[in-house]
This record gives sequence, structure tokens and C-alpha cells, in this order.
Amino acid sequence: MAGQIQAIRGMNDVLPEQIGAWQHFESCARELLAAYGYEEIRVPIVEHTELFKRAIGEHTDVVGKEMYTFTDRGGDSLTLRPEATAGIARALISNGMLRGARHKLWCIGPMFRHEAPQAGRYRQFWQVDLEAVGFPGPDVDAELIMLCARLWRLLGISGLKLELNSLGTPESRRVYRERLVEYFRGHAAQLDADSQRRLAGNPLRILDSKNPAMQELIRNAPVLTEHLDPESRAHFEQLCAMLESVGIRYEVNPRLVRGLDYYTRTVFEWITQSAVAQNAVCSGGRYDGLIAQLGGEATPAVGFAMGVERLVSLMTSGGQLPAAAVPDLYVVVAGEQAAARALQVVEQLRDARPGLRIEVNMGGGNFKAQFRRADRSGARLALILGDEELARGAVAMKPLREQSGQSECPLGQLAAGVDAALAALGPADAAPAP
Ligand code: ATP
Ligand code: MG
Repeated sequence: MAGQIQAIRGMNDVLPEQIGAWQHFESCARELLAAYGYEEIRVPIVEHTELFKRAIGEHTDVVGKEMYTFTDRGGDSLTLRPEATAGIARALISNGMLRGARHKLWCIGPMFRHEAPQAGRYRQFWQVDLEAVGFPGPDVDAELIMLCARLWRLLGISGLKLELNSLGTPESRRVYRERLVEYFRGHAAQLDADSQRRLAGNPLRILDSKNPAMQELIRNAPVLTEHLDPESRAHFEQLCAMLESVGIRYEVNPRLVRGLDYYTRTVFEWITQSAVAQNAVCSGGRYDGLIAQLGGEATPAVGFAMGVERLVSLMTSGGQLPAAAVPDLYVVVAGEQAAARALQVVEQLRDARPGLRIEVNMGGGNFKAQFRRADRSGARLALILGDEELARGAVAMKPLREQSGQSECPLGQLAAGVDAALAALGPADAAPAP
């Protein structure tokens, strides 16, 4: 026998038993984003490798070690998108959408990074990504964070901590970067291999290191917040004041530098404090220089990306699982003539009641077996199409989850009969209110 084909490590199936939670997440996000005036955009999953190199930066882990890059049949170097911002910025440029215009955009989809798979860290993972383009802030920066806070409330996720920092402008960062390199060079013996590599290309990223042995060195390093230019400082103070005005708590973390090169001024991260391996659920910031760096007109922008798997798992670990989709009706079919007409009768009912969830017994089976399936389906009501009843122009109905007996309704008034029978049974098990 041939070997079994396995899924790719770190790439997950989202199974039907999990899909209720995913759909609940998506519909909450979709509604909320629309309420804040964001429009959906869909960009390709594959782009020229060059786009990510230029946008994210050659010295980042994402570009240096994590990209799924391949040569296509035409000889071009292409990459599966590791994040969405670069593709959206490219779309704005290539569709001529800038020219001083403002855009509030979002997208959802899978991203790809060749990381070490573990709980909460995958090679294909989903993000909801949001970008506000053409807004210098800090008002829009504050609104984005408020939107996140509202989404956590809608999803029933509590205990997320907001960390905030400002990276200043590229000019002020350059001065800081020199101070930082000087400091780390003075302690070169304490740097781990990763940090030594970063010292030349991307020294700020050393602050992001998760290596416990490096933490004291990092704690004593010079702090970026003390090197901010006056405009960036004012921008940051206004952002903080706006958050305070709506009661959003935050912690300034001067070591929060984020993994991607393109950030300027505001950066933030929402972190869960529950005991999970991967604690960042949403990260973002301002990237005023990115669009110009990709060849578009200089346009300020701010955005964030949230990790769908990590958020869905927090939702479900709080016991907030929305009910799986169960049918309203299960159609039991008894007899040859009934079997021949069942689908026709049900199609007419679907025409009359498009929202009704109807599962028709497929593949035959005796009465008892069909009722067993009907019970297992979770439906509230069985519709019984039998030869004898159909010959009389009638359909029988029987509640499945209470003891009341069978009733009949005329075939010509089936939709109204089903309405009445379902109404008499009370509401279906609803998804829990957010
Ligand atoms: P981390 O520090 O966990 O590696 P990151 O800084 O690389 O995250 P971003 O690139 O900012 O993350 O992506 C935004 C969000 O996407 C993260 O906050 C996280 O929730 C999610 N995310 C990032 N990488 C993965 C992954 N490999 N698997 C699952 N979710 C991820
Ligand atoms: Mg990462």
C-alpha cells in the first residue's frame, strides 16, 4: 500500500468542529471594521520576492530566515506572503490609489513563515490586517487601538495587556542606533550569536531578544524614548492622552521595537497574560516611510495585524464556543414514491423559506435508522414524507426533542405548517451572546 500523505508541518486544517468559533470571530471582526469605516481589500497570496525584501527589510528574521521563496516556471523569484502590509501598499501604488487620497482598508487571509512549529506558532497562519493610509495621526493611531479593545470585548476575551512605544523618526532613530551599537560593542562578550549577527544589520532587534541570558544586558541598555525628536514625543503624548480619555490602560515598553524594519513612531502590541506559549495576539504601528520606500508618493500610514489562531484559541478557552450549525428540520423518507418526490418537495420548501436549515435523509435506511440519524443531527423537528401521507396530499411532522406526538399538515401549506410547528417548539439553541 502506498504511504499516507501527510499535511505539511505547521499548516493546519480548520475542521468543522472548530469552524463555528472561526466564523464567530470573522463575523464580529467584519461588522466592527465596517462600523469604523474600513473596507475590505483582497490582495494576492504570492508577490515578487523583491517586494518583501524592500518593505520588511533584509536584516529581519522574516526576510532572512522565514520566507517561502521559489522560482516559478517563468524564472521569477516569488514568495508566499509572510504578512499583508507590503502587498496592500503595493496594491495602492500599482492601482494608482494614492494621490493624496486616504484609505481605511482591511483584509483577512493566510500568511506563511518558515518558523519552528509549536502551539500558537505555525507555518501557515491567518491574520486580520488593517491599514489606515493617508492619516498622519495620532488620532487614527488611537482609534485603531480603541477598535482592538472593542473587538476583544465583543469576542469575550479579557486580560489582554497593551504595550506601547514610539520609535521616533528615522533621523532620531539613527542617533539612538549609534548609542545602542556603542553600548552593545562595549559588552560584546555577553551577546548571543543571534545578537552578534543583529549588531551589524539590525541592532534595535537585539532589544526584542527572548533569550533569558540577555535580559539584564537589555534592561540596562540606553532607552529609545529618551532620544525621541520633539514632534514624535508630542505625537506619542497625544496618543497616550486619547487612550486615557476612553479608559484604555497601557504600559509604555521602551524595548518594544517590533520585528519589521518599516515602523516609525507608534508601535504597539496586545499580549495575553494567560499561560500560553505565544503571547502576542495583535501587533502594529505606524510606517510613514514605507510607501515612498516602495516607489509610491510619500504617504503616512498606520496599521496592525492580529493572529486569528491565537485569538480563536483564547475565545474558546474562555468557554465561549458558538453552537455548531444544526439543522432545523430532518426529512425522513418512507416508501418508494416518497423517495422519488422527496427532493422536489424539499426544494419547494427551500424556495419558500431560504433561511431554513434542512437535512434530507440520504441513502435510504429503515424508519428506525432514519430516526436515529435525525436525533443525532440535533434537528428540532422531523418532517416525514411517506407514500401514504403523500397520496393524501399531506406531510407528517414530529418533534424530535420533546415527547409530543406526530401531527400533519397539507402538502400545499407545508411552509406555513413548518413555521407553526417550529414556533411551537421555541427558539433554536442560539449562539451565545457576545
Ligand atoms: P511573534 O513575536 O509571536 O513572532 P511577530 O512579531 O512575528 O509575532 P507580526 O509579524 O507582527 O508578529 O504578526 C502579527 C500577529 O500575527 C502576531 O501578533 C501573532 O498573533 C500572529 N503571528 C505571527 N507569527 C505567527 C505564527 N508563526 N503563527 C501564528 N500566529 C502568528
Ligand atoms: Mg515572529
